[in-house]
Amino acid sequence: MIPLRILLIVLLSLVFLPAAQAGTPAELVFTNGHIYTVDPRLGRVEALAIARGKIIAVGTSEEIQHWVGPDTKVIDLEGKFVMPGFNDAHTHFGSGGLGLLSVNVEGTRSLAEFQERIRVRLPDFQPGEWIVGRGWDQSLWPENRMPTRADLDAVSAAHPMLFERVDGHSSVASSLALERAGITRDTPDPEGGAIVRDADGEPTGWLKENAVGLVQKLIPPPTREQRQRGHLLALAEAARLGITSIQDNSDWEDFLALRTLKEEGKLTLRVTEWLPFSAPLDRLEEMRRQGGATDPWLKTGALKGVTDGSGGSLSAAMLEPFAPEAAGTPDNRGILLFDPGDLKKMVIDREAAGFQINLHAIGDRANRVVLDAFEAARKVNSRPNTRHRIEHAQFVHRDDFPRFKELGVIASMQPSHVLSDMRWAPAILGPAREYEAYAWNSMLEAGATLAFGTDYPVEPLSPFRGLYACLTREAEAGGPEGGWLPEEKISIGDCLRAYTWGSAFGEFEDHRKGTLAPGKFADLIVLSRDVTRSTPAEVLRTEVLLTMVGGKIVYEKK
Ligand SMILES: [Zn+2]
Repeated sequence: MIPLRILLIVLLSLVFLPAAQAGTPAELVFTNGHIYTVDPRLGRVEALAIARGKIIAVGTSEEIQHWVGPDTKVIDLEGKFVMPGFNDAHTHFGSGGLGLLSVNVEGTRSLAEFQERIRVRLPDFQPGEWIVGRGWDQSLWPENRMPTRADLDAVSAAHPMLFERVDGHSSVASSLALERAGITRDTPDPEGGAIVRDADGEPTGWLKENAVGLVQKLIPPPTREQRQRGHLLALAEAARLGITSIQDNSDWEDFLALRTLKEEGKLTLRVTEWLPFSAPLDRLEEMRRQGGATDPWLKTGALKGVTDGSGGSLSAAMLEPFAPEAAGTPDNRGILLFDPGDLKKMVIDREAAGFQINLHAIGDRANRVVLDAFEAARKVNSRPNTRHRIEHAQFVHRDDFPRFKELGVIASMQPSHVLSDMRWAPAILGPAREYEAYAWNSMLEAGATLAFGTDYPVEPLSPFRGLYACLTREAEAGGPEGGWLPEEKISIGDCLRAYTWGSAFGEFEDHRKGTLAPGKFADLIVLSRDVTRSTPAEVLRTEVLLTMVGGKIVYEKK
């Protein structure tokens, strides 16, 4: 046996191998930085060297000079902060992209602004192509009247349009949209809906409830080309925000669109695409074969299933009913979407076939049922290193915190959900079990591994909102004073680790992603400030100056 100490010294000397022994110089070198490696053995370094898309050395600026050859590009960081790129462990990138392709009219302050938002986007759409969007609220406009088809026709008569009101209960359609739907003054109102008409009996374009469906059903599903365009918009957004990897829950069609972008050299982050947990096992194996499971840019990964609803809709599966004052009903325990016995069987079969399993569980009952299923599978299959995950793990009973570590289950959580959900979550839980909510610190103290993300587009893609949430548990505008459940705040170090290394671990990619160490991919970002030494408000305002994936710059702030 080689003594451990000597082995360590040998290994460390390999890590810091000087250029004289290594031979080939670096293609790119960063010097004079505050480089936060997220690797506990390395801590902070000043400089790093990159070749063939990977980090080949880290150290002081002086040490890294050894790697500079005649063709090496040297970037002087001038003291700037560098860290591994963010790895968003839970996205719906396809729908995010399609959302960017549609027109956002939320927050418009007048009818003219509503029209202008659509007008500026006209070049993105072919004549005859549907233009859709959402978010208008006429009560914010000085006109304080519903928009009409004439208002949309004034922007373009050549495009069928449908715009949903902010509450999702009615929409306004353009004349061309009504024409395509065959809606005239003679069309009767559908069951549970209304076609609003003017004094002469002509449809105004405003459609309520089920009447929206008369137009909605004509909008074709997105084409491959539209999906690609949507993805390009989302990719640009991700690069601007310093996200270098995503773990994604989109359609197979989105995966194929991403594959085309990859072949065209337009993929600017790494994607692990999830497969649908409930699909038949032979179909899943077929998808894994077709999509591949090893390509570092685009591959298939875990199976994603949904086991309950959400807190906001009072459909998360709970051990005890939601607080009746907030829930409006005395005995609402939410909805469990699987029979626990069926779920166990499916988990056992899929685990035995070598799949990692990521199950959405929000309520404390759903979390327990999923942990039970993972435990049952472990007993039957005895597979090591399964790295199954619970997505969200929003409300977890205290008896279940230690089970994450015991079963090796990763808690895949989205810290920025707190910013949106703390308005209603305390009320639906009630004081006795409020401790259960978004309990990042309790999870860490119980030894669980955290992987962080956003659930984009449910929350915006910005990781800085997540960091801010970790530090404050306060709204972006501040409050409640000291934060909601302040004992569940976590340090910036733990938060960054969950958002980089933790996410990489959660997709079996920690051997090549998640820290800035020799041998890892050169997936890194340069920030406008050192987020480890900033106030929470400053963290929220942090800008990405440069994003690099695989040694290539994919974004640079102008
Ligand atoms: Zn989701």
